[in-house]
Amino acid sequence: MINRTLLLVAYCLLLTAHLSLLTAQTEPKFDFYNRGEYRAGVPRPQSILRYDVGDHHTTYAQMEQVIEKIAAAAPDRVKIFDIGTTNEHRMQHLVAISAPENIARLDEIKRENARLVDPRRTSANDAAAIAQNNPAIAWMAYTIHGNESASFETFMQVIYQLAASNEPATLDILKNTVVLVLTGENPDGHERFATWYNSVAIGSPDGNAIEKREPWAIWGRVNHYRFNLNRDTLTFTQKESRNMQRAYMEWHPQLAVDHHGQPAQYFFPPVALPINPNLPQPQYNKWLDVYGRANAAAFDRNRWDYYVRDVFDAFYPGYWDMYPSLMGATGMTYETDGGGPKGLNWTRDDGTIVTFRSSIAKHYVASMTTLEATAKNKVERIKDFYDFRAKASGPPSKMKRVVIDPSHDRVKAADMIEVLRLSNIEVKVASSSFTSPTAHTYMEKDGAAARRTFPVGSYVIDLDQPQRIFAKAVLEQHTQQDKSFIDDNMARFRRNQLRGRGQPKEDYGFYDITAWSMPLVYGLDAWWTEEAGEIAGSMVDQAYLDNARRGGVSGRASISYIIPYETDTASAMVMRMMQNGMKVAVATRQLNAGGRNWPAGTFVVRISRNPETVHDRIATMAREMGVNVVAVNSGYAEEGDLSVGGEGVYSLKEPKIAIAADDGVSQESYGSIWWTFDKYGIKFTPMTLATIRGGGLKDYNVLVLPHGSAGRYFSGFGAGGVTALKQFAAGGGTIVGMSGSAVFAALKDVGLSSTKLVGSEDDKPEPVASSESKPTTATPSPTPTPRGEPASDLPTDQSPDVAPMLPPIASPSANNNRVPEGLPGAIFRATVDRTTYLNYGVNRNEMPVLLASGFFLRYSREGSNALVFDANPKKPLTVSGFVWEGNTERLLKGTSYIIDESNGGGHIILFAEDPFFRGMTRSTTRQFFNAIAFNGIF
Ligand SMILES: [Zn+2]
Repeated sequence: MINRTLLLVAYCLLLTAHLSLLTAQTEPKFDFYNRGEYRAGVPRPQSILRYDVGDHHTTYAQMEQVIEKIAAAAPDRVKIFDIGTTNEHRMQHLVAISAPENIARLDEIKRENARLVDPRRTSANDAAAIAQNNPAIAWMAYTIHGNESASFETFMQVIYQLAASNEPATLDILKNTVVLVLTGENPDGHERFATWYNSVAIGSPDGNAIEKREPWAIWGRVNHYRFNLNRDTLTFTQKESRNMQRAYMEWHPQLAVDHHGQPAQYFFPPVALPINPNLPQPQYNKWLDVYGRANAAAFDRNRWDYYVRDVFDAFYPGYWDMYPSLMGATGMTYETDGGGPKGLNWTRDDGTIVTFRSSIAKHYVASMTTLEATAKNKVERIKDFYDFRAKASGPPSKMKRVVIDPSHDRVKAADMIEVLRLSNIEVKVASSSFTSPTAHTYMEKDGAAARRTFPVGSYVIDLDQPQRIFAKAVLEQHTQQDKSFIDDNMARFRRNQLRGRGQPKEDYGFYDITAWSMPLVYGLDAWWTEEAGEIAGSMVDQAYLDNARRGGVSGRASISYIIPYETDTASAMVMRMMQNGMKVAVATRQLNAGGRNWPAGTFVVRISRNPETVHDRIATMAREMGVNVVAVNSGYAEEGDLSVGGEGVYSLKEPKIAIAADDGVSQESYGSIWWTFDKYGIKFTPMTLATIRGGGLKDYNVLVLPHGSAGRYFSGFGAGGVTALKQFAAGGGTIVGMSGSAVFAALKDVGLSSTKLVGSEDDKPEPVASSESKPTTATPSPTPTPRGEPASDLPTDQSPDVAPMLPPIASPSANNNRVPEGLPGAIFRATVDRTTYLNYGVNRNEMPVLLASGFFLRYSREGSNALVFDANPKKPLTVSGFVWEGNTERLLKGTSYIIDESNGGGHIILFAEDPFFRGMTRSTTRQFFNAIAFNGIF
């Protein structure tokens, strides 16, 4: 007896010791198969993959085998839809899983659900009947950030559970919902990450292990073109985004969950402030609370840590939780704590380890719990979806209508209207001019109402429509943030101003940009009005837009073709023509040709200088790119002193473009240029910094340095590289820099430009005591948050994008608030210098520009300032978004947005911000193209 007791005690001690060792190190191994019983014929993912959950990363093709085999074995519950391919030709799939009686009538379910979308055609009684009889639609999306890999493994387990289990809770989900599993929102990025990780990983928990250092060319977070797909639901630039959007609009879900994996602990909503005020309350918060409490109960049962109401907000409409939320679904982001860049094992700050498997388990439990909560509440969730779309909810607004005048760029305007229509926003086009007594220009924040007449062809978006909440959120000029949020961040700012150089600064709560108004980011002429009276016009359809974007030639020219600079695509076409062996020139003064006057900046294609094929090629390109080309059959000028054969018509040089693509270069910035050039058929060569340093530029005349870390550009190029850049410019080359690379160019030790970064020691009015001019990191962060997700416990060089570095900045307290605080992203009014070639084609005096940093550039005293922030503005410079009171506007006045300096025979052209920020901003496209198209001639 005693012996047996002793034995038992000893065993218990042993067990406790063993368990405590386990819990001190890792979480217990989660059982993915305890929610049966399971149908025998349905294969488990592991039987197909030949490894256990979380032991290895599954490639996209392996995953496709898993879902196909499960679907083949459970056709009564599972149906796979292909929704479109990626840039690298992978097919994206939507796996519909539901009860057999629902799968048998999927089309009918979709049709009934669609009736809820337009309350003008469906009564509240009908909606109530649909809520009873139709299942809810649940959109479960995974791995939009391809390296947040736990989510990828998770959905195979979710699909298996739903396809195979006869557990009552699972059957309840199947009966009351149609689950749509999106099997990889970013297949190309995931594949880069998974293949690389599998090939180097030994499962080391050490944060310094090579498997925790994704190389520059891998970075699976972003897609093929290095776009962050979770910022792309405003302008839908990327293929994957459009595939998903098409599928989304087809199903109109009531629930949408986007599964990520970045922070140190699990996150699920409720969200942090700010919350987009267009989201109707109390409905929005009510559902976050329902789902939050359900997830909390499940996590508490598993003794898993998590957090709510911190870091992840609900403000910027470009995320895949906000897009659904603004259409009436409950959209949520779930973030698990392991996997991805953290690998198979990750050591937390207290020495415990989070495994890949346990981070998959958390996502799996959250997915299943969320589906259970949806099934349980499906009638109310569907009714609220209908109410969201039927009732005038949200704060009262004076804004009733938006009017876009497309005359500045009819192609770009049609592009924007097409994006709105993809989200089912109804747009009219005016068939006669009309007047509004209450028009507010987008170029002024809180500007007064004025009477304005709009021309025929204006686009009109009335907000009284089923998509009004989404339409208002993406179109309104400015979106207000919660007052308590702003007050809190301003208080942190004031405290930071009192801290000396050696003191760490408080972080700010901004998660992303605070301004995105679509007419402003596209740079279109727009107004909003306080009334929406009847106008003569018709609904815009795709045929109308295709026609608006159509270009062509007016005939076959015997002397020359005139390419008017009326669209961004005109200069893109010219660059493409030159890269295809054609000769193009530009009128540097007013030109008279074909019986008309053309402004400076008009392109001229002289027949005598070109091969016979020019006629066909120009016709094809003009049609494709929406450029209206005019054929001219006489060289005689009817008036003025410049004809097509005149001295003031300068021959352009074929742009031979190199782009820096390497460590230190922002991949998103590089990718946005890559994508833009590909779209227009403009050729370029990406190059490493070492290649550029080592003579790689000898066959090129343009070098683009995308946004990046000034310090890493400096260390990557070294003294030899800086010399190579100067020689390139002295030999006639053009260097284009932006944001961080503009800061690099302005560093004292680099000296490519005479401009100074506002607030840097170089910028001091008096000579600086310190002789140290090496770039350093001991400076305030120029941006409150990186342009990605918040910093986690990852090493800094694993942070989502390049860590910015600045020239030394003296302590703010000693400088009396003279260092610009980094902007999360706001839009400002810039003034155009119409006399420089960089503004050819820009027929306006002011334009909206985005700034998402604290990089303000002093006026160049040696070159030209093509776009500036007025030193004595009569109206505030801020047009939209959050700015630091007492800091931003004061320091921004009298700075330059685009600088052009001659350096030897060439040019250094600096932009204060990415011209194609996220592929979304397009207001300075012409200046960027001009910097390249006119290389070497001015
Ligand atoms: Zn993510």
